[in-house]
Amino acid sequence: MQTRCVFCGIVQGLKPALRVYEDDRVLAFLDIHPSTPGHTLIIPKVHEARLEDLPEEDAAALFRALHRLVGRIRAAVDAPASTVGINNGPESGQEVPHVHIHVIPRSSQDRGGIVQGI
Ligand code: AMP
Ligand code: ZN
Repeated sequence: MQTRCVFCGIVQGLKPALRVYEDDRVLAFLDIHPSTPGHTLIIPKVHEARLEDLPEEDAAALFRALHRLVGRIRAAVDAPASTVGINNGPESGQEVPHVHIHVIPRSSQDRGGIVQGI
């Protein structure tokens, strides 16, 4: 397997990460610069920059992992809500060119906005 980006390096165990979930197609780990406590990234193990280019099986596995994790992430940091989002392409703010879902625990005290507040 090629190390095509920093997230591939994490998948391969070549770069450190605080891993919170793994299955045969998906890995989740804490964001290194969390927007709020518990900010987690869920990624497919396969390298693909854009969601639309991901094989359907990996996209399905990614959403299955999201469904499994989103409530547990929120509960782990005792947050009442969460924001779930994908920056899909550089013009949307995507910096790491490997598909990733942000799960960001939210509370009424944080200063964040709505995901569609572009
Ligand atoms: P995006 O703008 O959607 O590409 O966001 C990339 C996210 O990856 C940012 O929130 C970064 O803080 C996070 N990130 C970058 N490198 C690492 C890393 N080595 N481990 C964990 N998170 C990372
Ligand atoms: Zn990659």
